[in-house]
Amino acid sequence: MTAIITYRPDAQKTPGLYDRILTYKILRDICIRVTGQDDFNIIRDTSTYNKGRLITIEYGGIKSFVSLSEVSVEGRNQSVQSIPTAINLYYADSNPNKALYYYFMPHKGNYFTDYHLFYFRLLKTAGVIFLNLLDYYPAGINAFENVDELIDERNDNRETNSSNNSSFISKTSDKVQIYAKTYGASKYESTLLAIAVAAITDRPIDLYNICEQDLTRLPQSSLNTINAIGNIQIHDTSITLEKRIFINQAKNNEFRSPIYQRNLLQRLGRKHCALCGCEIPEIIQGAHVWGVAEIARDDHFSDDIKFNHAISGENGLWLCQNHHKLFDSHYLSFNMDGHILVPSNLRTEDGQFIRAITQNESLDNQIMTENFKWYLSQRNNIRDYSHYQRLVI
Ligand SMILES: [Zn+2]
Repeated sequence: MTAIITYRPDAQKTPGLYDRILTYKILRDICIRVTGQDDFNIIRDTSTYNKGRLITIEYGGIKSFVSLSEVSVEGRNQSVQSIPTAINLYYADSNPNKALYYYFMPHKGNYFTDYHLFYFRLLKTAGVIFLNLLDYYPAGINAFENVDELIDERNDNRETNSSNNSSFISKTSDKVQIYAKTYGASKYESTLLAIAVAAITDRPIDLYNICEQDLTRLPQSSLNTINAIGNIQIHDTSITLEKRIFINQAKNNEFRSPIYQRNLLQRLGRKHCALCGCEIPEIIQGAHVWGVAEIARDDHFSDDIKFNHAISGENGLWLCQNHHKLFDSHYLSFNMDGHILVPSNLRTEDGQFIRAITQNESLDNQIMTENFKWYLSQRNNIRDYSHYQRLVI
């Protein structure tokens, strides 16, 4: 049987690009790796330009999509920018017998930085098959086995979540949350993240698209892919929209903000209780230091500035449900050095319990920024802590 390899020769900006880089040797190599044999015919499809750096191979009733790497790594976004398009075209194809592959072209530059390795792990998790990875990266790449592993990697890796390029993931008892950005290069990355999470999660996914001003939805091709996968609910939100909700809900303490959660993830990394170290994401919560209801009641600031305080990642810390409730009920608080305070007249048994579940006597430097201290001072100004004493474990 003869395989049929189809490609579009023109790149969007470079006519004939794929005629030049897809040598016979490379096409033969791809054919062998996909079909196990080297008999193929080539169809050059000149109807439009090549999107997604794709070639397709039809063989034995199966349509294989092969996304090609760049031949030169010039930047982190540039080097992977065509992959989401390839994924969307793959999902849009109606052939039920299909597969999606990635092929490394001979290239200049480093395709295996921490960022790339994370990205390729996502691809592998999403079901993409690497044809010749081991030729370039002998250590190999493993798919994420579960969402927790993905959350750790995403939220702890400085390089992968640096700059404004980031999407973050968290988990509650009934859902997985993805906080994504819909603009710039990251708009496509969030789709890949959603596909990867969908492949390994045991619960539904909420995908929050966070826009700065006006709502910018994901590109239609990405929305189609997400619909095809199912199990993912998209929530479009913007700073402007949340601000309106905030003004209505804050006084009743009903304000629940995905943007605040995202900002905490960005500042503090993955969910872990600051006082006991618990890392079970289902029971870790973002705790406001200067509470939302108190911010709403304050009469020094405009609504705009109040909203910024309510969603600031500096105005909070991760606490487990026990420590969060104790904090909100004023069983424990913090002095301006970050030491834990408890009421001096605490029942002995209650003091013993708090000591038993608490590992740290004070907050660490990552939490205790100048801005955080300002929020702490706002909190501590409202209430009299003169009858509190330092917790000694
Ligand atoms: Zn705790």
